[in-house]
Amino acid sequence: EKRALRGEVRALQNLVQELRGSIRVFCRLRPAKNGQALPDAADSIGARAESSQRVALRKPPGDRRHDFTFDRVFSQQAGQRDLYEEVEPLLPGILEGIHVCIFAYGQTGAGKTYTLAGNRSTGEPGIQDLAIGDLLRLAESREEGGGAKYEVRLTALEIYNETIVDLLLDMHPGPAADSEKLEVRQSRENLDRGVEAPESSAGGAVGSSNHPSAFGSMRVPGLRSWLVRGPEDVDHALRMIGANRHVSATALNERSSRSHCVMSLSVMQKQAGAGDSAPLGTGGACGVLHIVDLAGSERTKISQAEGMQMKEANCINRSLSSLADVLYALGDPNGGVHIPYRNSKLTYLLQDALGGPGCKTFLFAQVSPEAVDSNESYSTLTFASRVASSVQKGKLRPPLPGAPRGSPQARGSPNIGPSRDA
Ligand code: ADP
Ligand code: MG
Repeated sequence: EKRALRGEVRALQNLVQELRGSIRVFCRLRPAKNGQALPDAADSIGARAESSQRVALRKPPGDRRHDFTFDRVFSQQAGQRDLYEEVEPLLPGILEGIHVCIFAYGQTGAGKTYTLAGNRSTGEPGIQDLAIGDLLRLAESREEGGGAKYEVRLTALEIYNETIVDLLLDMHPGPAADSEKLEVRQSRENLDRGVEAPESSAGGAVGSSNHPSAFGSMRVPGLRSWLVRGPEDVDHALRMIGANRHVSATALNERSSRSHCVMSLSVMQKQAGAGDSAPLGTGGACGVLHIVDLAGSERTKISQAEGMQMKEANCINRSLSSLADVLYALGDPNGGVHIPYRNSKLTYLLQDALGGPGCKTFLFAQVSPEAVDSNESYSTLTFASRVASSVQKGKLRPPLPGAPRGSPQARGSPNIGPSRDA
């Protein structure tokens, strides 16, 4: 009886998630640099939370006021747990095979890394830490209840100037060499299994397996995939990722804000009782949580940049606008439009997690409340609210032909899984 009730609760949660749509856009204002919230009436305020869904921004010329609407707005006072409230309901779906992508977008210093990874020195967790901890606990409790076995793996990579570098690699003392740059490939076979992780001495948890790629039909040959047996393995991996981003940062001035960081946790359901490595049939559910800390969105004045700086600025501008194009196209009310995944490494890599049935995308637009940042805040808010409004229009779209039939919540339901056959 208890199990039936739990099933019903889960079905209801799925329905609520489905009704909320597959792309959700949030805005978070960070406190002032000293960690204190700026009073809304202060002269130095540029952007403020007007309500739980609206942000008001004053900016030059003429201190004009602009309003922006989102699925939810987190004020300067909002805590990490408030944001996590939105993410938590997705976790059971990940165990059942949905692909979730969480992006943090905004200018450097607006709080992207804080929102996702928290503050390691004060021990304050980010969305990523909270979600991974809960996912592991959820998987464990289901395993204890019998019926399911899960294999959890973690990969992390950085996309810098359109090249991919493994972040779970011992980079000390310097950044990765050219020979360590990786490529994205599309496997002809959707069932092509295995991240081709070379045997490595870096952590006993690294190794090859028949675990599906965290990127669905997209693969990154050579990318290390960590077997996660418990929270210590995650901790070890996250510390390594942090250190590697830092290594790159000293090598090339603030590189961590000039690159995208993609951390992916994949959960494969295995047949209960089968051998340790037996995947669940060919359609074995593999749910994934991608956490994407995007490069700073501030526009470097290309005319003033030279050499490497110019290349960086071009790469960032192009890849962020490709992401925007993909998100706009996914929300297009006419549906069936071409989705330009191929225009950047980031969207090419993540295409199976963006916009398909059984995919959820969350975008956190990170904004500084300070008046000095108003121009950058304006461009972040414009970008994000455009995604939000294209999604609003897209909600009226009838299901595509070939979309899963049945109950109205079928499309995107965790029970459908990430299959893209339709
Ligand atoms: P980004 O990754 O966008 O460049 P960070 O996450 O590094 O920005 O944030 C810049 C600084 O502001 C960091 O010191 C961070 O700890 C702090 N910070 C950002 N958001 C918050 C917040 N909501 N509460 C407290 N401190 C924050
Ligand atoms: Mg950062």
